[in-house]
Amino acid sequence: MNCPFCGTSDTRVVNSRPSPAGDFVRRRRECQACSRRFTTAEYVEKVEMMVVKRDGMREPFQLQKVRSGLERACEKRPVSPEQIDRMTREVEREVLTTADREVTTEHVGKIILREIKKVDHVAYVRFASVYKQFHDLQDFNTEIQSLLKE
Ligand SMILES: [Zn+2]
Repeated sequence: MNCPFCGTSDTRVVNSRPSPAGDFVRRRRECQACSRRFTTAEYVEKVEMMVVKRDGMREPFQLQKVRSGLERACEKRPVSPEQIDRMTREVEREVLTTADREVTTEHVGKIILREIKKVDHVAYVRFASVYKQFHDLQDFNTEIQSLLKE
């Protein structure tokens, strides 16, 4: 961080004050050449994750869509709101840590399927029928047979 007065890069941090929310830090610095003081602020750069849809269009990743997909699949099933929360957070965590700014709907769907399978098999088949675009009973049958084999 160069001194705004004399331009030297030799500055020293006098003190650091994080904001109450912890999302940025202000640092008081002192220039080692001219001894003048100045303040810098450091923010976490927010990265917006984009989702590439089947048709190639992109849209921002919205956790609310993950949650409502899970809620639809788990409707009238013995799945608690806390379980929905936990699955939603798990999907978010994985999307944000495995992808580099861009993720396909297919990938997000796979993570959701994996999470939902651990919780409720009926909800899983419901979600799979949408995600895998089942066309007839045979598709359901194939999925259910593979579940039963596990
Ligand atoms: Zn200076």
